[in-house]
Amino acid sequence: MQILYDVAPNGARRARTEGLQSVGQMEISLEANSQIPEDSTERLFRYISDYVMVSGQKIHSGETMRYGWTTLRFTLAPDGVMLQIEELAQPFSPDSSDYTAGAVNAMTILTRQDSTVRRFNIQKIGHHPHRSEMAIICRNLNAKSKIMVFDRIASNKTEDSGWFVGCGDSSHDHNNLKELARIHLAHLVASRPKMVYYLAMPEETRVVFDYSKTIVFPPGENEGKEEDSGV
Ligand SMILES: [Zn+2]
Repeated sequence: MQILYDVAPNGARRARTEGLQSVGQMEISLEANSQIPEDSTERLFRYISDYVMVSGQKIHSGETMRYGWTTLRFTLAPDGVMLQIEELAQPFSPDSSDYTAGAVNAMTILTRQDSTVRRFNIQKIGHHPHRSEMAIICRNLNAKSKIMVFDRIASNKTEDSGWFVGCGDSSHDHNNLKELARIHLAHLVASRPKMVYYLAMPEETRVVFDYSKTIVFPPGENEGKEEDSGV
């Protein structure tokens, strides 16, 4: 599979695959955005192409695919020959179900999650959770909580992100299941969407948010690294 850049019949710049047809998959196009580096576009097309190759499944018009935090949808391109990529129009809204052309948000979120991991000198990037994955949270938390303590633990269920979110009160018993709840990540971060950029930290990372700063404890380290994040 190769990636070509050209101009679509409607005059828009686009990136498109060439070579998927040889395995019976319709070629796929993406509205090219000059703000997005080409390696992000390449990463997206590789992901799609790997899915087709490994699963043996074909992607059809109307189907969706998770890509990191958000969801993509494939529809028939105006040329009637290729599929084009759309993405959730409002990836940070828990109730989002409208799609828009392109994948700018999907690619930007992935890149920002990776750069956040690297900014704290953490070598390994963790699983990029989808917005529908679950977190376990302390019931004392609400949208106005000033302190939220995120711990990433190993998860063996595909629907679990591995994130546990506590209230930061050491006298609160988080081993008592009655004090805990399970919620979708999209609901958890709805009031502070910039938290999403920290969610690709690997297992055993701790991230402490309060309104003015964020402190990240890399795996195996007792000393946190602080930054003003204003999430
Ligand atoms: Zn608590």
